[in-house]
Amino acid sequence: MAAGGFAAARVAAARHLGPGFRNVALEADPTTVAAAGPGAEVAIRFRDAGGRPHERPYSAWKREGARLEVCVSLHGLGPGSAWAARCAPGDEVEIAVVHARPVDLVEGAGAHVFLGDETSVAAADALMRELPPRVPARAAFEIASPDSRWPPGELAPGLAPSWIPRDGRPGAALAAWLDRGWLECGPHAAAYVTGETWLCSTVAARLVRELGFPRERVRALPFWKRRASS
Ligand SMILES: Cc1cc2nc3c(=O)[nH]c(=O)nc-3n(C[C@H](O)[C@H](O)[C@H](O)COP(=O)(O)OP(=O)(O)OC[C@H]3O[C@@H](n4cnc5c(N)ncnc54)[C@H](O)[C@@H]3O)c2cc1C
Repeated sequence: MAAGGFAAARVAAARHLGPGFRNVALEADPTTVAAAGPGAEVAIRFRDAGGRPHERPYSAWKREGARLEVCVSLHGLGPGSAWAARCAPGDEVEIAVVHARPVDLVEGAGAHVFLGDETSVAAADALMRELPPRVPARAAFEIASPDSRWPPGELAPGLAPSWIPRDGRPGAALAAWLDRGWLECGPHAAAYVTGETWLCSTVAARLVRELGFPRERVRALPFWKRRASS
């Protein structure tokens, strides 16, 4: 283990899931990887092209043995996005797994609704794969460009998300698009909202105040914050 709970890791493989996403497989010791349950937060320390160190959190998508996969949105504005776009097998990084799952499934929910943006897809897909058979689930993700759609073959069987084009501030289009008809997927549904900060608060507020979701069955967690320049 490296200092501060970080463990040495290296890039084992990297591929485009689509033009707007890179799937990066990391290899680390199996104990570290085993701690990264579906959707777990994985902090990755990497160096930029100038050798400067950075650390960014991503979601555990898949894992097997010593291999842990994340999927990074290539928005092109920060060092994390740039690292994912250029990383190659053999590159050295460090990873730390946050043990508390960022957004956990609501136990006993009759249906599950995943809402968010580009950054939400990997964790939502990982959690979908955890659901008991035949429990209904649906998902809608707001995306800045069609490049950020995931190919259906990469997603959990049965997860056919609605891809909502971003229009203005992140979250505005998703919040406006949601309606009772789409959300009607069974009694005692739970909703999980992740992604940009304002998206999370706006969508969660609409679910509770206008669309009849009990507050205790809405779990929201911001994954990033839009800066004025972005
Ligand atoms: C628990 C958790 C799980 C996460 N899982 C994932 C994941 O699986 N995949 C993933 O891609 N991201 C994920 N994120 C989000 C990711 O950590 C942030 O998007 C992070 O800011 C990216 O770092 P960066 O260096 O690319 O950009 P930064 O240096 O952080 O920001 C630079 C600029 O880019 C803008 N920006 C940052 N992120 C985005 C974005 N996604 N879209 C558009 N503009 C952006 C900022 O507003 C800023 O203006 C997760 C975050 C958390 C907390």
